[in-house]
Amino acid sequence: DQHIDDSVFTTHESEVRSYCRSWPTVFNRASGSWLTDSGGRKYLDFFAGAGSLNYGHNNPILKAELIDYLADDGITHGLDMATVAKGRFIETFTSRILEPRGLDYKIQFPGPTGANSVETALKLARKVTGRESIISFTNAFHGMTLGALSVTGNSMKRAGAGIPLVHATPMPFDNYFGGVMEDFAWFERVLDDSGSGLNRPAAVIVETVQGEGGVNVARVEWLQALEELCRRRDILLIVDDVQMGCGRTGEFFSFEAAGITPDIVTLSKSISGYGLPLALTLFKPELDVWAPGEHNGTFRGNNPAFVTATKTLDTYWADNTLTAEVHRKGEHIHEVFTGLTERHDGLSTRGRGMVRGLAFAETTAAGKVCAAAFGAGLLAETSGPSDEVVKLLPPLTISDDDLTHGLDILVRSVEEVVA
Ligand code: PMP
Repeated sequence: DQHIDDSVFTTHESEVRSYCRSWPTVFNRASGSWLTDSGGRKYLDFFAGAGSLNYGHNNPILKAELIDYLADDGITHGLDMATVAKGRFIETFTSRILEPRGLDYKIQFPGPTGANSVETALKLARKVTGRESIISFTNAFHGMTLGALSVTGNSMKRAGAGIPLVHATPMPFDNYFGGVMEDFAWFERVLDDSGSGLNRPAAVIVETVQGEGGVNVARVEWLQALEELCRRRDILLIVDDVQMGCGRTGEFFSFEAAGITPDIVTLSKSISGYGLPLALTLFKPELDVWAPGEHNGTFRGNNPAFVTATKTLDTYWADNTLTAEVHRKGEHIHEVFTGLTERHDGLSTRGRGMVRGLAFAETTAAGKVCAAAFGAGLLAETSGPSDEVVKLLPPLTISDDDLTHGLDILVRSVEEVVA
């Protein structure tokens, strides 16, 4: 019997639940770009676990690898013990991802989620520099734990903390004021102004494309100027690639296109490839100042996730095919969105690779579009400070037919709402 009464959730689960409110059904199975609910209804998934399912649900290549591993009594839980699965992942990540890009990072497994990686990055930056404040950006999203929330620029999410958060100073993200701020001279003046009360920060934390913040794309020049500022003022640069990493913008790391080299990188979401919890914190070797055991915990290395992660890298990151596909499909989404912006006032399009946003001047419209899309069998979520942007994150491996089908539903939903 696949039926679960909705009252199980509404009566016993905390009011904090959110996605089940956007999509009021009970899901049961998933395959590729599709989810099926307990009533057998199918939904095309353009949300993909908020970017955790870049290779689709139950990807058959990864599933086979996982089944073999479990059938052979592979270790599921291994704390941070040395295991073959972990060793293979480290080797493969280094040879397939880091070395070809000329990147030299130590790898830490900070815990299962993106917020764990952000916490680790902030803690490490403070320990390395002996400084406490962190520069973050307007509309940034870095996670829900106290440290990650303190660098998150969303007042609704911050209200969840109940008390003021400390040690983070928000700065305007690229284009925040609608115009271009060519360099960070203004920021350096603030740093040098003893009256500003701004202590020299330990680090800057930035997303190259703000996902939750509304698909705000930082320009290459802006990111380069930010890196240059960090180098000149001896501030560590953290790129939070939890949502935009693992190929979402085309290249494996979202910062590659800007040619910058962060000191610390956070990764999670799609790194396991299979939707299993896994996170990485990468940092330059000279930043490895941890004493053994100074930052550990129970779920630091998920062995089944290492197995699927390794297979993912071998399958999808042995060459540039996926990157080219992401740019091609992303361009297709952009063209469809551009068509909508040309036909209707008050719409604009933004994004890079296969993260694309359709922004509405009328702020309730995006939510209505997502609700109409759900009714027609498509999952898409809103983002942005007023939930004014429909954000698309389809699996990178989605077929052209499914992509076209989902975009058709979305176009019809937009036309229904703006008509
Ligand atoms: N950083 C970014 C950029 C994110 O998008 C998210 C999740 N949306 C996080 C951190 C937090 O990750 P998690 O939800 O796995 O804790």
